[in-house]
Amino acid sequence: MPNIPYEQLFENSARWAASRTAGDPEYFERLASQQCPDYLYIGCSDSRVPANEIMGVEPGDVFVHRNVGNIVPNTDLNAASVIEYGVAYLNVKHIIVCGHYNCGGVLAAMQSRDLGLLNPWLRNIRDVYRLHQKELDAITDESSRYKRLVELNVVEQCMNVIKTAVVQRSYLHHGAPIVHGWVFDLRTGTLRDLEIDFEARLREVQRIYNLMSEEGQAGTAT
Ligand code: ZN
Repeated sequence: MPNIPYEQLFENSARWAASRTAGDPEYFERLASQQCPDYLYIGCSDSRVPANEIMGVEPGDVFVHRNVGNIVPNTDLNAASVIEYGVAYLNVKHIIVCGHYNCGGVLAAMQSRDLGLLNPWLRNIRDVYRLHQKELDAITDESSRYKRLVELNVVEQCMNVIKTAVVQRSYLHHGAPIVHGWVFDLRTGTLRDLEIDFEARLREVQRIYNLMSEEGQAGTAT
């Protein structure tokens, strides 16, 4: 990829804004008035996996959270706040956790290296490996094992989303949001739905992580 001069970013932005208002002078006024996206996307920070572009959607269509390795750690106030806001205030209908093959975060978690501050973050992915060690260790081809860990990480992060009270409460009362797991293949540009059975995963999660009281009322835990 060629380097883009810093000043050019503003020229690009002005050109982009002009293209938006060319046939639609009210475009930005409308955009500024509100947001009501149906989708919350949780993906990797990787520069090659831009949420809106791979979904083919416009500004205003998707609420986005990205971090290294598309992880939803249970003590991460950032991810938790995004989910809380997306579900309780924006009323998103779908939450998507999207991983991608060739993920540097997942690759780093497969290696025996001290990565300093990244260690505790990537430990979330190492924990996914440990949970699925039998299946992963049985895959002899390293690149296939790497790809499978990308997929299993997505599934486990979907489970982490489902563990939150706001998602359980909203689904109990409104039948939404549905949680989906996707993987983007950088080499082909293909977006794949892992077709997670949300209802089944919810039941599985709630055997241990049920935060709703038996009367169907919202619990106090968050
Ligand atoms: Zn990545």
